Amino acid sequence: MTKSTPAFSICVYCGSKPGNKPGFAQLAEQVGTWIGSHGGQLIYGGGRNGLMGLVAEATMAAGGAVVGIIPTALVEKEWAHRGCTELHVVDTMHERKRMMADKADAFLALPGGIGTFEELFEVWTWRQLGYHDKPVGILNSNGYYDGLMDFVAQVVQDGFMANWQIDLVTLGTEPEALLQSLVQKAGFSPQAKVELL
Ligand code: AMP
Repeated sequence: MTKSTPAFSICVYCGSKPGNKPGFAQLAEQVGTWIGSHGGQLIYGGGRNGLMGLVAEATMAAGGAVVGIIPTALVEKEWAHRGCTELHVVDTMHERKRMMADKADAFLALPGGIGTFEELFEVWTWRQLGYHDKPVGILNSNGYYDGLMDFVAQVVQDGFMANWQIDLVTLGTEPEALLQSLVQKAGFSPQAKVELL
C-alpha cells in the first residue's frame, strides 16, 4: 500500500513534562487527534515523555503521520519514540530545530517550559525577520500564556517592541479552532476524514 501524502504538516512545541493538571494532557490529546483526523502530519521533538508523547500518540491513534526529530544527546533523556512514522536522530539541537521548522507548514505552542518557550520565540523571531512566513500559534487555554502576553504588552509599552510583532502570532483558547485557523492561514483547507466502514 502506498503511503498517502499528508494534507499539511504542523510543528507542535510543548512540555517534555505532563504538567500537574489533567487539562494539559487533554489539550495535547485534542491537538493530536485533530491533526490525525484531518489527514495531517505532526512534526515534533521525537520524545515519548510529557505532553510531547501524548500529542504524538493521539496523532497516530487518529491516523496521522508523525515525524520526530531528536538530538542524539536526548535520545535517552526524552525517550525517543521508536513508533514514529519517521524518527530522525540528529547531531545537535540547532539541527533539530532547523529541521522541524523546515518540515512544518505552521507552528503551535502548547503549555510547556523553557524548551517550549525557546522554540516558540525562535520561530516568532524568525518570522519577524522574514526567515519564514509560516503561521505561529499559541494555545492559551485556561490562561496558561496570559502572563507571557501581559509581559509582551508591557514590552510594547516600554518601547522595545511594536504591536505588529505581537500580531505575528495567532492566539487561541480552543485547540480545534486554533488549528483550523493556523492551517488555513498556511494555505490549506483540511476536512475531517470520514471513516468508511
Ligand atoms: P520543555 O518545555 O522545557 O519541557 O522542553 C520542551 C522541548 O524543548 C524538549 O524537547 C527540549 O529538548 C526542547 N528544547 C528546545 N530547545 C531547547 C533549549 N534551548 N533548552 C532546553 N530545551 C530545549
